[in-house]
Amino acid sequence: MENNTMKFLAYEGMVKVTCVDTLKLVQKAKEIHKLSKTTSKIMSNVLTIGAILGADLKNEIDNLTIQIKPSGPVGTIVCVIKKGAKVKGYIQVPDIEVPPTLEGKIDEKAVIGDHGTLYIIKDIGLKEPYVGITELINGDIVNSLVGYYAKSEQIPTVLSTGMLFNEKGDIKCSGGYIIQLMPDATKEVIDKIEKAVQSAPTITQMIEQGYDLVKIAKTITGDNDIMMMLGTIENEYTCDCSRDRMEKGLISLGKKELQEMIDENKSVNTKCHFCNNNYEFTIEDIKQLLKQA
Ligand SMILES: [Zn+2]
Repeated sequence: MENNTMKFLAYEGMVKVTCVDTLKLVQKAKEIHKLSKTTSKIMSNVLTIGAILGADLKNEIDNLTIQIKPSGPVGTIVCVIKKGAKVKGYIQVPDIEVPPTLEGKIDEKAVIGDHGTLYIIKDIGLKEPYVGITELINGDIVNSLVGYYAKSEQIPTVLSTGMLFNEKGDIKCSGGYIIQLMPDATKEVIDKIEKAVQSAPTITQMIEQGYDLVKIAKTITGDNDIMMMLGTIENEYTCDCSRDRMEKGLISLGKKELQEMIDENKSVNTKCHFCNNNYEFTIEDIKQLLKQA
């Protein structure tokens, strides 16, 4: 299946659906961050949610950040989302690994821990970004977000993500979907959605069985006359860091800190958290930046 994001309307617009296949996206993140199996699963979760939410961003400057500060040893988890389902992410302890659960499943909750805080930061170019905060319940990122959307935005939401490894330890599928009820959704439609979601195979089962995104959308809604909204958006893992941005970051540290760097007489390496690109600044470079600080 292709790497993509598709939006649909079901039941004549009473229901909004977005389905995503994020295999390539998550494979790239695993490679960049050298993720363990457990952190791959966490990254797949957040990047898949990112690819879903990113399909709704309208302007180039819009940017949505999901930041999770869990109680467990995995540390901070971040996903940044831009228009067109462009996402990037990082995990503070990317190589942490724990044994699988008794059922043989990846035990991401063991490293996330059972509580924490989830921040949803929406920056649409206004003076201050909008920051939503919700509790991370039971180490479950997906359900905590669903709770947040239900409460803060009053949108009944079904969100599902999934990922599988093959025997060799490579990621073989990753994807997800969101179903959101519009205010005019009737009781009859809500019942149909509930039934369809309950009887549908899991997202990874559907991908494994070769369902395309249209078939997945039909299956999870029970609506065979589903309408495609925007065609296909390619979701991708992209980082927009640059030397220029790193310079601005260094300048923002202020005169005192820059002077300390110069006094230490060592060049400074700044590494981008999201893509691991390295930017080196010599003492001469830092001296130039000091003038602008
Ligand atoms: Zn970068």
